Amino acid sequence: MLVLKFGGTSVGSVENIRKVATIVEGISGPKIVVLSAMSGVTNGLQKISNLLRVENVQEAKAEIELLHHKYKEVVQELYEDNDSFYKANVMISYNINLLLDYAKSDFTENIDKLILAQGELVSTNLFQLYLEEQNLSSALISALDFMQIDAHGEPQLDVIGERLSKVLKTHNKVDIFITQGFICRNKNNEVDNLKRGGSDYTASIIGAVVQANQIQIWTDIDGMHNNDPRFVENTFSIEEISFDEAAELAYFGAKILHPQSIIPAKEKNIPVLLKNTFKPEAKGTLIHTNAKPQNIRAIAAKDNITAIKIKSYRMLMAYGFLKKIFEVFEQHKTSIDMITTSEVAVSLTIDNTTRLDAIVQDLEGFGSIEVDADLSIICIAGDIAQNRKGITASIFKSLEDIPIRMISYGGSNYNLSFLVKTSDKIAVLNLLNNGLFARKPNEQSIQV
Ligand code: ADP
Ligand code: ASP
Ligand code: MG
Repeated sequence: MLVLKFGGTSVGSVENIRKVATIVEGISGPKIVVLSAMSGVTNGLQKISNLLRVENVQEAKAEIELLHHKYKEVVQELYEDNDSFYKANVMISYNINLLLDYAKSDFTENIDKLILAQGELVSTNLFQLYLEEQNLSSALISALDFMQIDAHGEPQLDVIGERLSKVLKTHNKVDIFITQGFICRNKNNEVDNLKRGGSDYTASIIGAVVQANQIQIWTDIDGMHNNDPRFVENTFSIEEISFDEAAELAYFGAKILHPQSIIPAKEKNIPVLLKNTFKPEAKGTLIHTNAKPQNIRAIAAKDNITAIKIKSYRMLMAYGFLKKIFEVFEQHKTSIDMITTSEVAVSLTIDNTTRLDAIVQDLEGFGSIEVDADLSIICIAGDIAQNRKGITASIFKSLEDIPIRMISYGGSNYNLSFLVKTSDKIAVLNLLNNGLFARKPNEQSIQV
């Protein structure tokens, strides 16, 4: 079994939906196709939900109308026979009416989740009807019938595996199963989601529970690049990368992968291939256990980081101090990304600031607190902490004019991260690109 996930841009227009169908048709054997919402749709749904949250029903309805218009145009162009055209229109009308019903109801968090789920429900229906029109036999299976998260938002792999295997068995002689990325059910059996960008996570979870031969993530770029192509020119596609390095990069900002998406695949040792829908002939990036080590593989950046410094002379020679500090973060369900300590101070970073005020109030009992916002973590992944001489020197030499707020090195063998002001981020990514990577595209050698 293969799992093939296509992202928002890949299903974002009639032309692209046709490309995806051609790719799916060209890959032999049984496969589960995981689709995102068409690009822009989840943002539109989020906007509708935000408007309803503040009781702006009028504008929400205008947004729903825009979405309806977009869908009608797609349906008009995508289908050639009347039957598919009719079925697609019925499905779209049903979906739009559902959104209008939500707009009329009292807003709740549950309604928010229901609204956000609609994009994937529509894209998968449109795609299945298109395959049907092309005489390709397929089955549309609803992620809401098997994708389950627990009270902590974690996927319940055993439950998902059992349910999915039952669902798959109900369809004989079908090679193409289509399902929604992103959406799931929570512990109360309500519709929920795996957070923005979560379709990658869906693909990895499904791949893990069906023990797929490979998980393919088809997107709008030829695999994982050595640096963030949104901010740096001359980046190049990486041929292969280890699970650990890919997980670090995804967590620390490489948008091509949802932050948690690598974990299920890594746990079941299922290779993940990142491919470009618009350039299927390009090799892409293979994430697997046997990736040949490389000093520096890639760089990523994560924004919206806040640093908290706790300074206290009571920490000097004391034990148990860190435990008490960590307990404050645990109580407020806030995870810590980076941490550095000295004899009299601890600095740590968080990206979820919803409980910041309460955290600071609780920490004040331990010493003086300083809070810095608008920071970015820069993550350098590779075979870094293997005592190779010169690597760290080259990294910091490239950054001699940039103030660095924190450094984390040695926590794992394949990552070095540091904290800078977000206003310096683009400069940092470019300086590192020039300093660490040979400039010719397609050449993966590095200068250190
Ligand atoms: P999809 O909609 O297919 O899930 P995303 O927009 O979520 O696609 O992810 C692909 C985008 O990730 C690329 O277009 C690129 O701009 C961005 N990106 C950020 N960092 C990287 C990186 N290191 N390598 C490749 N793409 C990256
Ligand atoms: N449609 C969802 C989003 O835009 C999930 C995804 O595309 O992965 O966040
Ligand atoms: Mg994505």
